[in-house]
Amino acid sequence: MNVVTRIAPSPTGDPHVGTAYVGLFNYAFAKRHGGRFVFRLEDTDRERYDAQSEARLLAMFDWLGITPDEGPETGGPNGPYRQSERLDTYTQHVETLLASGDAYRAFETAEELDAMRHEQKQRGLPQGYDGRGRDVPRDEQDRRAAAGEPHAIRLRTPDEGETAFLDVLRGEIRIPNSEIKDPILVKSDGYPTYHFANVVDDHAMEVTHVMRAEEWVTSTPIHVLLYRAFGWEEPRFIHLPLLRNPDENKTKISKRKLDTSVDSYRKQGILPEALLNFLATMGYSLPDGREIFTLDDLIATFDPERISLGGPVFDLRKLRHVNARYLREELPLEEIADRIEPLLREAGYAWDDEDFLLDVVDVLRPRAETLTEIVDQAGYFFLADDVYPFDDEARKKVAAGQQALEDLERSFSMLDFFDEDAVDDLLDEYVRSREIKKPAVLMPLRAALTGTTNAPSVTDLVVILGRQRVLRRIGRALSEITSALPDDKPTPEEEQQAAAEAAAKKAEEERRAAAAAAGRAAQAAARAAAGEEPSES
Ligand code: GLU
Repeated sequence: MNVVTRIAPSPTGDPHVGTAYVGLFNYAFAKRHGGRFVFRLEDTDRERYDAQSEARLLAMFDWLGITPDEGPETGGPNGPYRQSERLDTYTQHVETLLASGDAYRAFETAEELDAMRHEQKQRGLPQGYDGRGRDVPRDEQDRRAAAGEPHAIRLRTPDEGETAFLDVLRGEIRIPNSEIKDPILVKSDGYPTYHFANVVDDHAMEVTHVMRAEEWVTSTPIHVLLYRAFGWEEPRFIHLPLLRNPDENKTKISKRKLDTSVDSYRKQGILPEALLNFLATMGYSLPDGREIFTLDDLIATFDPERISLGGPVFDLRKLRHVNARYLREELPLEEIADRIEPLLREAGYAWDDEDFLLDVVDVLRPRAETLTEIVDQAGYFFLADDVYPFDDEARKKVAAGQQALEDLERSFSMLDFFDEDAVDDLLDEYVRSREIKKPAVLMPLRAALTGTTNAPSVTDLVVILGRQRVLRRIGRALSEITSALPDDKPTPEEEQQAAAEAAAKKAEEERRAAAAAAGRAAQAAARAAAGEEPSES
């Protein structure tokens, strides 16, 4: 079978992680079978239409690397791929159903429908359209339509019996026909409804497998009745489990509880490979149980029957963990450097040679879970004039390590080779000869070189920055910081704490003195009682 799958988003708002998720599984399935993956824009709801959305959706799929084989940009044999450009097709098809009597024109006004609903409620009757327009004779329908009377076109559905369909994951699903109430196919504004356009297009675009979110299960009987009315073969239906918020009740994923925007994850420095890998583990696992795998690995073994229906939770910690794996282990250093380059430039950083960038990314990536976390930490590598702010901790460390920094400044200036081994040896030798602990040297040096105490290995820093910058930075730290903070001036909190400690000490001394005095008085009294002379001792 020539497999054709599709993603059919509506152009509203920020591209959603759920669209990426459904798109991924459709893509994987099509590719597994050498088939085609179609992108169709379902833009017939003109009130919710957002003109930016199409480009953003396509950009999202492009970023994720799951490029449609057919779509509004790529074209294809069954286009156009925007529903708003297919109105003629829907008109043609609805004519077929009108002619066969499977559809009819319904002329009820909004007020009349409101009154109908009101009455149903009052009388405790089932809600929904009661089929009152069905029996208007066909020629009268045509006449009123020709006279321009506003109307919708509805599907005539059976009142008795059930409509059944097979869901690949859920088995047979049956819905009583009494619950399907002549749904609208074409609205009075001339635009088709979701149900109608969706079925006409899935057929026209030769879709063999409709894989979509669980929330469409209840719409499927309407679609099935439409396929039957046209005499078309039904596709196979696969309803994917809804992604869930990581809350107690595992509610349906929502913007209010979780960031659902793919763009936002991109901006936070999540890698597309990691997002795809993470999404692929939502209700799915590879046959060998691997947690980290590529899109190609997924495609090679993808089998929708392995999808599990237990609500998969969108756990941000797991996403960050998977991202860190890609950042540190799965993708080559050069690749990460390429992706981070624009972000560093955006942050205003510049560098001369590419090796420097590779070195920086190499030491920072074990310390970050996202690309932006690398950028956030990278500042001290890129300051052309070596001027950067010192945080409080760093100020103190520099002040405390003044002597060591002066000594190292001299030693670094005389070092023959400025490489990792030489710098390591120099630092080891220094702490040995002075009989001091290594952190007493490393902490002030790290602080002097970066303005912070949260930075990677000192040896890495020294080697990457290079001799000139190291000397410049130590010199600047010594002159500026130590002169500004001659006595390692305490912070207000420290002053407060010292005052509290002094007060406590004083109180303790007073308590001891009072206790001693009381003891002495008691002894004197005892001696007096025994007839002894008071003693001064
Ligand atoms: N336009 C629908 C949506 O926005 C498509 C649902 C389907 O795949 O049938 O999700």
